Amino acid sequence: MFFNEKMETLNRKELEEIQLKRLKKTLNHVYKNNEIFRRKFKNAGVSPDDIKSLDDLKKVPFLTKQELRDAYPLKLACVPKEKIVRIHMSSGTTGKQVVQPYTANDVEQWSEIMARCYAAAGVTFKDVVQITPSFGLFNGGFGFHFGAQKIGAFIVPSGAGNTKRQIQLMKDFGTTCLGAVASYALRILEVGEEMGYGFDTLRVAMLGAESFSESMRKRIEDGMGIEVFDIYGMTETGGVGLGIECEEKSGIHIWEDHYIVEVVDPETGEPMQEGEEGEVVVTAITREALPAIRFKTGDIARIEGYDCACGRTHVRLSRIRGRTDDLIIVKGVKFYPSDVEEVLMNIPGVGNNYQIIVKSEEGRRDLIIRVEGNVDSNIVVERLKEELLITPKVEVVDYIPRSEGKAVRVLRK
Ligand SMILES: [Zn+2]
Repeated sequence: MFFNEKMETLNRKELEEIQLKRLKKTLNHVYKNNEIFRRKFKNAGVSPDDIKSLDDLKKVPFLTKQELRDAYPLKLACVPKEKIVRIHMSSGTTGKQVVQPYTANDVEQWSEIMARCYAAAGVTFKDVVQITPSFGLFNGGFGFHFGAQKIGAFIVPSGAGNTKRQIQLMKDFGTTCLGAVASYALRILEVGEEMGYGFDTLRVAMLGAESFSESMRKRIEDGMGIEVFDIYGMTETGGVGLGIECEEKSGIHIWEDHYIVEVVDPETGEPMQEGEEGEVVVTAITREALPAIRFKTGDIARIEGYDCACGRTHVRLSRIRGRTDDLIIVKGVKFYPSDVEEVLMNIPGVGNNYQIIVKSEEGRRDLIIRVEGNVDSNIVVERLKEELLITPKVEVVDYIPRSEGKAVRVLRK
């Protein structure tokens, strides 16, 4: 199902022509209207006029999270303040946060891409959409809201927290589609089970804001009897809805008439080959207030391909394996928390929550994996050793406290 079939199924040549036109326009816009962008471009010896093909994009300097933080509150805005209609902000707890301002057109663009995400997940005006990310500075709640409004769905804007009430609302209004941070869907599942609720009307969940493994997806799908779609996006690129999986589950389609996505070597910034894992870089080509220009997302993924059985022609990015700063290296073995999760969630008796504790002292690094549930710790050690070549100390506990936002999985001591 499509929201904008024409744009979602354009042939590659037409799509790339649109991208180039919009890219040039956006580069000219930021260059003309923001001093910091102009200086960055000049320092890199590039001007918007040098961009004659999509390949030339690699001449443009990257935008980093630190630069966005330093630009607090609106130093990177490319429109006058009176054109800004709202902001969202990253949920970071340390230091200055990243602000994303929106013009009225940006909100319209956001509604369009989110509407496409709903359509890709098979959600229509007939659905009851319960939105559980918070409505506030975090972009999740409003992003889900704008798209649901665009498709004319019945919106239950419950926002974050109060899980029992969430379930009561699902029951009372017959929620069919759940929008949530991935780990919060698990929380809803657990509380629903305690309350004896079978999620009878629920059909679909659109989960994002953190990476989750296939085995975690399966737990949620089986537990609720639903289909889970991984949705992608972040504050810096303009919010949730940059892309989503289609029913083929063959990767995340990025809406390429609105965004250009690259995968680069996180260290050198050089492009990776198709199929090779690297850091995702995003350029927003239809935003006004603060278009991300080659934003280094810190997310690790690879380009899977382009054509898809669903009919969409937009790039398929793999699901996010982790973040560059989440990479754990213990005794020379490199892995991401999601790799551990994939193994754990496949072991019968292991509960839904876990923690990875990395203890560094005197040059030695110890790995402790804490799981909840009813399982022999030796079995867990054995499986992790077999599948990831790591031999952590495993602690089995009754309960690990939950957070109502993004889950805290890794503790570094
Ligand atoms: Zn597809």
